[in-house]
Amino acid sequence: MNAPVVTEKKLAIDGGPKTRTVPYGTGVRFSGRELDYLKEALSQNTLFYYKGGMVKRFTRRFADMNGFKYCTAVSSGTAAIHTALIALGVSVGHEVIVTPLTDMGSAIGILYQNAVPVFADIHPNNYTLDPAAVERAITPRTKAILAVHLTGGPCDMDAMLAIGKKHNIPVIEDCAQAWGSTYKGRPVGGLGVFGCFSTNDFKQVSTGDGGLVVTQDDSLGRAAFEIADKNYRRTAADADRAPKSLAPNYRMTELQGAVGLAQIERLDDICARRNRWGDGLTERIKDVPGIDAHAVAEGGKCTYMYYAGRIRPAELTVDLDRFIAALNAEGVPAFKVYSSPVYRYGLFRDRTVYPGSAFPLEGTGQSYRYDKGLCPVAEAVVDTSFSLPVSEFFTEQDLEETAAAVRKVARAYLR
Ligand SMILES: *Cc1c(COP(=O)(O)O)cnc(C)c1O
Repeated sequence: MNAPVVTEKKLAIDGGPKTRTVPYGTGVRFSGRELDYLKEALSQNTLFYYKGGMVKRFTRRFADMNGFKYCTAVSSGTAAIHTALIALGVSVGHEVIVTPLTDMGSAIGILYQNAVPVFADIHPNNYTLDPAAVERAITPRTKAILAVHLTGGPCDMDAMLAIGKKHNIPVIEDCAQAWGSTYKGRPVGGLGVFGCFSTNDFKQVSTGDGGLVVTQDDSLGRAAFEIADKNYRRTAADADRAPKSLAPNYRMTELQGAVGLAQIERLDDICARRNRWGDGLTERIKDVPGIDAHAVAEGGKCTYMYYAGRIRPAELTVDLDRFIAALNAEGVPAFKVYSSPVYRYGLFRDRTVYPGSAFPLEGTGQSYRYDKGLCPVAEAVVDTSFSLPVSEFFTEQDLEETAAAVRKVARAYLR
């Protein structure tokens, strides 16, 4: 007979039995295929993307897997977004609409272009941009909308694209957390004008660091390729190679390309497992009183870089810290997902984007402030959301016990 999942009422934090009975499943992220391609990369006698074959194979393979026309490899997800912004001509005096709950990498490129991020509020349970808030944030200075598919859950892309079309503003997809995610059956990254991916070590696939910029547009595809490499036009005649505007060096090396090529061969499997795990958790905790499960926008398939539920403080006798401590005691390594909305980071709050200068938050004819209360939904999410662990290596037992721990803790603390 199978041992039943522990249903004991007494919480582990109060000396009761732990819900989790075995360590979470683990596995090897990098192995034979990565090593083979790395050896091949080294044997080329060059690690420069333009001469070698690995970055080319990595980008071509990813583009072909998804039906993307152009794919440029860069050094990070931050670099991918910055490259897209440069290609779209984002510059001084422009605004880019973005979500307040995201990685700093969503905002960095905007500021490096001396443009200004305008934060629009989010949906309370799927954590992506609220279309009505985006619409309200549009001004004559808006040059782009950065639709962040947070956790791997796609934004309401029909609404984002409709707003973009109505105001003639391009939509860039921040897919850094959204490897393998789809919206209404189509891969994310190919819905907006640009899709930007990250291969930092915390994403579904890793090259240590790295990123990809994809587009279907011929001239933007060529522009992104050049911008990522100092705006050199390496394919042009000698006289035409020199850069005509400023761009950074965001090149990916052949070593990253080799690992990336191996990693995306695992992508479908990794993403299918993470999708099953996250949706499986939701299935098991969505009716638990006192909490909200992680929602996904209609038509979206989420690949869960992480899982974020929320407590309903009015229905519980404890605060978020105690709720998380109780989950930890049950053997679930939950943690507080966000420390703050991005706009409350020091550089915005204290207006110190560039040391000793308030530019571009001042000085372009418009004054920008990022006070508390700017995006109330995002602020409430910061105060009430808890993460549950996600990995492609977790087992069925891990799933049942994780869900059981959440049920047990929520029930014990119900008012
Ligand atoms: C990770 C991440 C980035 C930045 O990617 P890096 O490779 O770390 O530069 C940007 N946006 C989001 C939503 C991310 O999660």
